[in-house]
Amino acid sequence: MERKILASEELRIFRDTVREIIKSQIVPEYEKWEDARMVPREAWLEAGRQGWLCPEASEEFGGMGASLLYTVILTEELYYHGVSGFFIPLHNGIVYPYIDRFGTPEQKKKWTPGCVSGETILALAMSEPGFGSDIAHLTTEARRDGDYYVLNGSKTFISNGQLADLFVVAVRTDPKAEPAHRGISLILVDSNCKGFSRGKNLDKVGFHAQDTSEIFFEDCRVPVANLLGKENEGFKYLMQNLQQERLVLAIGAAAAAAGSLDLTVEYVKTRHAFGQPLSKFQNTRFKLAEAAARVSLAQSYLDDLIVRHLNNEKLVKEVSIAKYWITETQFQVADDCLQLFGGYGYMREYPISRYFVDARVQRVYGGSNEIMKELIARELGL
Ligand SMILES: Cc1cc2nc3c(=O)[nH]c(=O)nc-3n(C[C@H](O)[C@H](O)[C@H](O)COP(=O)(O)OP(=O)(O)OC[C@H]3O[C@@H](n4cnc5c(N)ncnc54)[C@H](O)[C@@H]3O)c2cc1C
Repeated sequence: MERKILASEELRIFRDTVREIIKSQIVPEYEKWEDARMVPREAWLEAGRQGWLCPEASEEFGGMGASLLYTVILTEELYYHGVSGFFIPLHNGIVYPYIDRFGTPEQKKKWTPGCVSGETILALAMSEPGFGSDIAHLTTEARRDGDYYVLNGSKTFISNGQLADLFVVAVRTDPKAEPAHRGISLILVDSNCKGFSRGKNLDKVGFHAQDTSEIFFEDCRVPVANLLGKENEGFKYLMQNLQQERLVLAIGAAAAAAGSLDLTVEYVKTRHAFGQPLSKFQNTRFKLAEAAARVSLAQSYLDDLIVRHLNNEKLVKEVSIAKYWITETQFQVADDCLQLFGGYGYMREYPISRYFVDARVQRVYGGSNEIMKELIARELGL
């Protein structure tokens, strides 16, 4: 399928290079990274050298001032090849935009070069043990003390939590705010800050190369200069950036579904049962035809959304639909494909098993799919 938005010569060359490096350098190492439950820092630094990290950052601060389409391509290629635990999409497309949109020139000058080189890995810390979906009621507090905020509390399920050097942390700066979401701010916390600590790397069902952690703040003193934007406006900023976060997750989901499909199309041609290749059974053909239909529809819908997102349109309903439906599709396609691999599909050495386990979390994080349906219903006026 010709995809007009990504058809320029420059983007094609970028995709070809990314694909080649993923196939030759990342895929062969990925099982080791999964076993280590972490992507090595050297891989992040190499990604920086390749120009893969925050290409959208302005040239003034060490980036390339490139369009979001570069991160779209990186996201698609990582998910398509089943190596999405190298969470560059989170770094580029989800966390850095907070610094880019709401950071002061001083903050950008201080941190952007490291974000581009891979020396400063980013994470976003919203979820808490008691509050995940209900983010408006988060309790990690940041009390003002002169030129510092003093942070106390904890966050959980934080992607890149073991490796990250800089966290965008959602905190409560006004405990009396009514409604509660008006008392939230975003603060940049350097992992070297005294009073900051990490819990263990959490043991997950899948998405194994991605380190996910609890983090703790115990009288952690952060300079007021690390506040992003204005005090108590954090919830508004989160809502503004969630459009891109959900779009990036949906883009990854469609690419992963396409990856599962292509892998399975090849397998069913070579595996035989009852004297013929699996590809000749009607069930196989129908399942893969259904998957192809889902993947194509997801892709077309997303391509339209990417263009509209780049035109700064507000797309709450559309992006919620994309995140909900395409992550469900990713899971359904991976499940149907795994079934066609039979017992081999359940073995870790067969990559289809990884597409399956990695798909599951996509329906939970980034705003669970139930929350997406709530948002869609609200937009319907219900
Ligand atoms: C691997 C992984 C990585 C993650 N990475 C990050 C990260 O980097 N940063 C971060 O901040 N968080 C991260 N999260 C957290 C994730 O965003 C939350 O798990 C998610 O928002 C759900 O919150 P919860 O786990 O507290 O579930 P809960 O909010 O307790 O929800 C439990 C169930 O109830 C449903 N539910 C809740 N409210 C409603 C409602 N109003 N209507 C209908 N159903 C509802 C939910 O959909 C869900 O099915 C990550 C999670 C995982 C598993």
